Amino acid sequence: MRESGEHLAFGKHHAGCIEVVCGSMFSGKTEELLRRIKRAHFARQRIQVFKPRVDNRYDAVKVVSHEGAKTEALAVANAAELFDMVQADTAIVGVDEVQFFDDEIVDVVQRLADRGSRVICAGLDQDYLGKPFGPMPHLMAIAEYVTKLHAVCSRCGREASRSQRVVAAESQLFVGGAADYEARCRVCFVAGVVEPSS
Ligand code: ADP
Ligand code: MG
Ligand code: ZN
Repeated sequence: MRESGEHLAFGKHHAGCIEVVCGSMFSGKTEELLRRIKRAHFARQRIQVFKPRVDNRYDAVKVVSHEGAKTEALAVANAAELFDMVQADTAIVGVDEVQFFDDEIVDVVQRLADRGSRVICAGLDQDYLGKPFGPMPHLMAIAEYVTKLHAVCSRCGREASRSQRVVAAESQLFVGGAADYEARCRVCFVAGVVEPSS
């Protein structure tokens, strides 16, 4: 184990663990998840990657970073479905956008780690109001390793920890893209919806 928050010594004869990769939008959570998955492939460990199903169109989807890097993933309706789909020989379970799962994800991740899986969870730690997002506080508390990443503030260039919504939407669950959110630092962030930075 080194300072990166990644359990590098993981292998067949190791106990399971939980790793959380968190931060604002554009902070590189998905890139970091993909990096860890790629390294696990080199180590010939069996991996399954999941994400919450935010619409019902596809069962098999991809996890895609803002840079366009991607990997195959399975879209699941809820935490119980995720648990049911993990195969016996899977050593590593990756979950992207984990903040969108219900609280049951905490038990599921815990059970997977208890039975020997390395579980890597990537998700937003805060919503567009700067409030803790869904199950993230709980996951961060029970994880062995937590990595907090930062984007670049779109207004001032400082390290950004918040996701500023620049397009109105009704709920926390609104799934936006690059046009709907900006990374902002503590100074530039305003809870709520504001005009985009020019
Ligand atoms: P996340 O999953 O945390 O939303 P991604 O891993 O998908 O982030 O994307 C990270 C990439 O986003 C960076 O490598 C960079 O190319 C791009 N990017 C766009 N806007 C910003 C920003 N304001 N700060 C940092 N990276 C940004
Ligand atoms: Mg992402
Ligand atoms: Zn700023």
